Amino acid sequence: MPQDELQKLINLIARLPGIGNKSAQRIALYLIKNKQDLMLPFSESLSLTASSIKKCENCGILDMQSPCKICSNQERLSKTICIVEDMADVWAFERSGFFKGHYQVIGGLLSAAKGFTEQDLRLNQIKERLEKNSVDEIILALSATIEGQTTALVIKDFFEQSNIKITQLAYGVPVGSEIHYLDDNTLGAALESRKNL
Ligand SMILES: [Zn+2]
Repeated sequence: MPQDELQKLINLIARLPGIGNKSAQRIALYLIKNKQDLMLPFSESLSLTASSIKKCENCGILDMQSPCKICSNQERLSKTICIVEDMADVWAFERSGFFKGHYQVIGGLLSAAKGFTEQDLRLNQIKERLEKNSVDEIILALSATIEGQTTALVIKDFFEQSNIKITQLAYGVPVGSEIHYLDDNTLGAALESRKNL
């Protein structure tokens, strides 16, 4: 019976993205080896997070509270909404500290292969939120991939008739990099989004 539990643990770990069966075995053994200071706190944290994590009713951010801390923060600019794919993007923006507005997490990009459709974007719901907060700018911060750009176009078309300004992150030369090291797509995108000096 104990062997079954161990196998169950390995099987569960192996279901995590990017982790195969061998890695899962290694992780399980590592956890067991560090039972007191890793495995037990880990299992406690998993169950506490599972029972207390919430999706913000406004913006979709994961937090312990809904509305989330960003939506509840009076100092943030509620009239500027940055549309991102998932929570990792929110963390990236927050790390940089440059963005002071609110977010809208859409939870995926349009993809036939992944079965993520226009309905899943819940654009009508987003529209209601934007109207309620008199939002005047939407910043599209979606990946520079075909899926990301298709999604950005669909969102742009949807809000075209409203009076909201729609902007998109510029793609281009990474800060601190040299031109001759750029790949063709990055260089092309940088040229496309050039601006006046
Ligand atoms: Zn929120």
